[in-house]
Amino acid sequence: MMNALILEEMTWVELDAVKDDIELVIIPLGSTEQHGPNTTLATDTVRARAMGRLIGEKFGSKVLIGPTLPIGLSYHHMKFPGTLTFSLETYIKMTRDICWSLKQHGFNKVLFITGHGGNKRPVHEFATEAKKELDMDVYISSMGGSLVKELAAKEDFTDFKGHACEVETSQTMFLAPDHVRYHALEAAKFTDHTLYLDKKYAYDGGVFWDYKEVSENGALGDATRASLEFGEKMNALVVEKISDFISEIILKRG
Ligand SMILES: [Zn+2]
Repeated sequence: MMNALILEEMTWVELDAVKDDIELVIIPLGSTEQHGPNTTLATDTVRARAMGRLIGEKFGSKVLIGPTLPIGLSYHHMKFPGTLTFSLETYIKMTRDICWSLKQHGFNKVLFITGHGGNKRPVHEFATEAKKELDMDVYISSMGGSLVKELAAKEDFTDFKGHACEVETSQTMFLAPDHVRYHALEAAKFTDHTLYLDKKYAYDGGVFWDYKEVSENGALGDATRASLEFGEKMNALVVEKISDFISEIILKRG
């Protein structure tokens, strides 16, 4: 384990001294979004922040970890109190501004690691333009259930998970235990009119689901099946997969 290079914890003088060794900047992306009664509104933010640090410890001086964005694209959760969202337009512009800023300091490769699936779309939108506009390589990676489907399939888990569920809650138990409401954990309370439970329509959040229409308590899956043990195991796999991806990005020079 190396010391992670955390931008917010450095002075500009300290950064300037090591800048030329840095090959990639990571920006963790979070959200302020309901996670049922199971975990706090900051769940995605604290998971993403913790992941940034863990990845930083793997790569030391080669990878700079930037600040974690605490608000995401979360329209689908707005009917639950407390959720905040940017518009798609704002999010794309913000992504561009962050990349532009990094470019001014000589950084050409950025990896966004998102704790919230809804943030992928705006980053993808900008990533396709980034090369042309800024001559930068912009990447995005998830950090949750979508990377550990095979591992989760071996557990006694439910079929319709993906948010505030047993997988995400397990990972939160490991990465940010203070954000878990251990005594209030609940399974999804699916509404009786939702199409989400039909396998034809429920695929990876690829369609817009208003969560209030899907689940009365805002959760999917069954968080009562979550465990620290699974959280630790899945998180190790996530770190490994993201690290492999970063090695590829760094190797792909020029
Ligand atoms: Zn989440």
